[in-house]
Amino acid sequence: MSSAIKDFIGSLMLTELFKGLRLTGKYVFARKVTQHYPEEKTPASPRFRGLHALRRYPNGEERCIACKLCEAVCPALAISIESEVRDDGSRRTTRYDIDLTKCIFCGFCEESCPVDSIVETHIHEYHGEKRGDLYFTKEMLLAVGDRYESEIAENRAQDARYR
Ligand code: SF4
Ligand code: SF4
Repeated sequence: MSSAIKDFIGSLMLTELFKGLRLTGKYVFARKVTQHYPEEKTPASPRFRGLHALRRYPNGEERCIACKLCEAVCPALAISIESEVRDDGSRRTTRYDIDLTKCIFCGFCEESCPVDSIVETHIHEYHGEKRGDLYFTKEMLLAVGDRYESEIAENRAQDARYR
């Protein structure tokens, strides 16, 4: 039987339609795997590298000691730091900026930090609408850290034994 006749008979018998319905029927009662983002979120690793944050100690003091290791290690040259020595002899940043349009989210900055100050959080739902929106200053980074400290600390604790 030629293929043209086979196709003709197949179309008369609605073979393709029933094949499709059989496939649909197979998945109607199967376990659903689709996530309805953003209402439903998939689990994220504690090592997820999202928006950066600068952390503080529980007494409110900034962790960052302006050692500039993160600035030196950043392959994208995204971090800019200036510092000064306070009256009490401690060194702190006067400027800590990250240009997130340059950042490649490699995580080197947080790995290099000796005091767990600069971290990458689980936050990935952020955006900028105009030039400069993704240029994060020290105040903005500290604000992210203040807001999400409990989640950051929890993720660090989960990952602590691998560090
Ligand atoms: S994640 Fe990488 S590229 Fe981004 S600021 Fe840190 S070191 Fe630089
Ligand atoms: S964030 Fe960490 S690595 Fe970067 S300057 Fe501050 S203390 Fe040093």
